[in-house]
Amino acid sequence: MQTGRHFLAIPGPTVIPDRVLRAMNVPMVNIYEGPLIETTHSLFPDLKTLAGTAGEAVMYIANGHGAWEGALANTIHPGDEVLVLESGRFAVGWGAQAAQMGATVHTIQAPPRRGVDPAAVETRLREDKNHAIRAVLVVQVDTASGVWNDIEAIRRAMDAAGHPALLMVDCIACFGCIPFEMDAWGVDVMVAACQKGLMTPPGLGFVFANDKAMANRHARGCTSAYWDWLPRTQPDMYYKIFCGTAPVQHIFGLREALDMMAEEGKDAIFARHARLAGAVRAAVAHWGQGGPIECNIVDEAARSNAVTTILTGDIDAQAMRRVCEDDLNVTLGLGIGMDANSTFRIGHMGHVNEVMILGVLGAVELALSKMGVPFAKGGVEAAVASLNG
Ligand SMILES: *Cc1c(COP(=O)(O)O)cnc(C)c1O
Repeated sequence: MQTGRHFLAIPGPTVIPDRVLRAMNVPMVNIYEGPLIETTHSLFPDLKTLAGTAGEAVMYIANGHGAWEGALANTIHPGDEVLVLESGRFAVGWGAQAAQMGATVHTIQAPPRRGVDPAAVETRLREDKNHAIRAVLVVQVDTASGVWNDIEAIRRAMDAAGHPALLMVDCIACFGCIPFEMDAWGVDVMVAACQKGLMTPPGLGFVFANDKAMANRHARGCTSAYWDWLPRTQPDMYYKIFCGTAPVQHIFGLREALDMMAEEGKDAIFARHARLAGAVRAAVAHWGQGGPIECNIVDEAARSNAVTTILTGDIDAQAMRRVCEDDLNVTLGLGIGMDANSTFRIGHMGHVNEVMILGVLGAVELALSKMGVPFAKGGVEAAVASLNG
């Protein structure tokens, strides 16, 4: 038995605030009228504000993969071409889903351990003279590689190429953690979910669509009744918002989470994520002075503020994670889409603070010490200095 609180420091699902847990601890209510309806309707304006859009928002009882499919079903038809900008496991997964739905998938791979190169996107789109490519799929923060992609720069590249494809962005890892301005940046479709920055148990997926994306839906239809945006955006037909029974507990939980976020304020939330990510990076940089540990992403500006992917070279990352889990009461993220024996990840998104981040860094440092592997001690001190800076 372990005492104290366990810290789930994986990049989603994230720590759920007690307030959210309590808000969800309610008996079933009438799903046709009353508080549930009002609460459901109250979520949309807040979600749109977080997304920076005046467009449409739809909610699915789904995880991120469901929201991916919700985005594709309304935009892509069998035989369509899509361009996937790969910078980690998740863009690859979204592209594979598009392929299974009948799309022809082209890819541009980001340079190793770096973000998507906007210039390569421009070049590729210029080659597509007939504008066969219907959509460009990209992830803002890839949870596997830890990269942050510059969505504004990718939009500029598409504009420079004069290409009309829809720009579709997966913000699942970082929605509500870092700035995202859908309308100002010219993003046509954005996909998010509730279990990372929004601090709510897995189960709600979101898709935001601007006028251009909605016009595409109107003109070409949707390949699925369940994922169809149209009925879900009709506010007078409540039962249609979820295409069936509403996720009662999730609605009350998300309401509480959004209230907490409003209390803290968007800018303060972003600043907190930047501060805590800076502390993690300071520790990693310090550890690396005496051994193989380093951030996966080489370019400092492209390291995400939601999750950090750390390479351990010949240090056994799986063994280190096991010490943290079994002896120190903290669960680290394992490497996915990369060699799990030499990769681990720290999630620093959502309901996290200095104590939790210093705790997880201290646990990693203790685990490395117990293992007797080469690293420079003092990473926690470097993190403290970073927080004090
Ligand atoms: C977590 C995540 C997903 C997948 O979400 P699920 O809820 O696990 O389906 C997709 N993309 C990104 C960037 C993510 O972080």
